[in-house]
Amino acid sequence: MVLGGGYAGLRAIKFLQRQLPKEVELTLVSDTPIHTEKTNLHEVAAGTIAPNRITFEIESVLQPRVDFRVETVMKVDVDHKQISFASGDILPYDYVIVALGFKSESFGLQGAENALPLDSIDSATRIQSAVEQQVARYAKSKDPNDLNVVVCGAGFTGIELVGEFTKSLPKLAAKYNTPAINLTCIEMATHILPMFDQGLADYAVDYLKQKGAKLLTGAKITAIEPNAVVYSDDEGEHRAYANTIIWTVGVSGSNVIADSGFDQRRNRVVVGEHLNMDAHPEVYLVGDVSAVMDPASSRPYPTTAQISLKQGEIAAKNVVAAINNQPQTTFTYQSAGTVASLSDTNAIGEVGKMKLKGYPASALKKIITDRSLLEDANLRTMFKKGRYDIYH
Ligand code: NAD
Repeated sequence: MVLGGGYAGLRAIKFLQRQLPKEVELTLVSDTPIHTEKTNLHEVAAGTIAPNRITFEIESVLQPRVDFRVETVMKVDVDHKQISFASGDILPYDYVIVALGFKSESFGLQGAENALPLDSIDSATRIQSAVEQQVARYAKSKDPNDLNVVVCGAGFTGIELVGEFTKSLPKLAAKYNTPAINLTCIEMATHILPMFDQGLADYAVDYLKQKGAKLLTGAKITAIEPNAVVYSDDEGEHRAYANTIIWTVGVSGSNVIADSGFDQRRNRVVVGEHLNMDAHPEVYLVGDVSAVMDPASSRPYPTTAQISLKQGEIAAKNVVAAINNQPQTTFTYQSAGTVASLSDTNAIGEVGKMKLKGYPASALKKIITDRSLLEDANLRTMFKKGRYDIYH
C-alpha cells in the first residue's frame, strides 16, 4: 500500500505497478483525487498561472489494477499492520510506503491564523483570490492596507512567491486602476538564499528589490495580528501593516506521523539507508515525512521534490526486492542541481559547478517543470500543461 499521491507516493506506485505481477494487490490512498506539482504553487498563489496547469487526476496515471482510494489517513498502526481512515475504515497491509507529504508550519506563533499558508493547491488559490479581492475593494475602501501584501519568510518558497508577485501585482493594480501595490518580505536570517553561491543570491536580491519588493532581513516575526505582522530587529519592535499576509516560514511533515506514535521531529521520522524502520522493515517512509541522514554532511537531506522522487523510487524498488527475497538498495543522492525562479523569465541556479542566472536559469526551470510533468504524469499531460516558451 502507498499512502500519499504527491511526488514520492506517485513515483512509488508507478514503479510498483510496472514491476510487480498482477497477483500482487496494490492500493494507493490520497485525500484528494488530484496530484499537484507543488514546486509551482507560488505561480498559482501569485495568479500568474491557472491552478489546472499544475494539477492532474491521479487516476489518469494508474493502471486499472491499482485500488485507488480517496480517503484521509488517520493512523499507521505498525503493530497490527493496518491503516485507519477518517471514514472509520481500516485496511491491512503487508508493506506500506508512507509518503504523506508536508504542511505549512506555524511553530506555535501567536496569531498564525491571521496569515495564509502556502502548502496546497487550495491554499494557493485562496491567496490568489484574497489578494485580488483586497485590491478590488480598494476602490471603495481606500484602505491603504488593501494595497499592502506581506510575505513572511524568505526561504525558497517565499523568494519564488515574491518573484512571481513582482510580475503579477503591477498587472492587478492596472486592472483595478489602483496606485502601486506594496510588496514586503520579512526574514529572520541576515543572509537570503544561503544554499546558493553568494553572487547568485545577491543577484536575486538585487533583482527583486529593483522590481519594487521590499526585503527586510534580520527581522524576526514574533506575532501576526489581523492586519499586521509584528517583527523585531536591532532597532526594536515594528509592525508591517497589510490586509493579505502570507506565511512561508517553514514546513513539517503530515500530522499522521505524530498521531501514529512514531519517534519523530516536526513529523519526520529518521529512517535508515533502505528508507524503512529498523523495528518494522515493512514500513517505508519517504519524502517530507522522513529524515534520511546525508553521510557527507551528517545532517538530514533537505526536503525537496527531487529527493522525494528518488526516495519514492528506491522505497518501491525495496518493496519489490523484499517480496522477491532479494537484497535492499541503499538510498544515495546526487543533486541534479538547484534552481530558484524569480519570474517566468528570470531565475538563479546551480548545476554541478555551473552557475546560471537570468534567462538561461529560467529556461532550465521550465525544462525541470516539463520533465516533472512527463515523469509524474505522462507525455499527454506534459504537452497539455508544460512550458514551451523556451523552445522557440
Ligand atoms: P524554509 O524553511 O526553507 O524557509 C523558511 C524561511 O523562513 C527561512 O529563511 C527562515 O529563516 C524564515 N523564518 C522562520 N521563522 C521566522 C520568523 N519567526 N520570522 C522571520 N523569518 C522566519 O521553508 P520553505 O521556503 O517553505 O521551503 C520548505 C522546503 O521546501 C525547503 O527544504 C526548501 O528547500 C524546499 N523547496 C524547494 C524548492 C526548489 O527546490 N525549487 C522550492 C520551494 C521549496
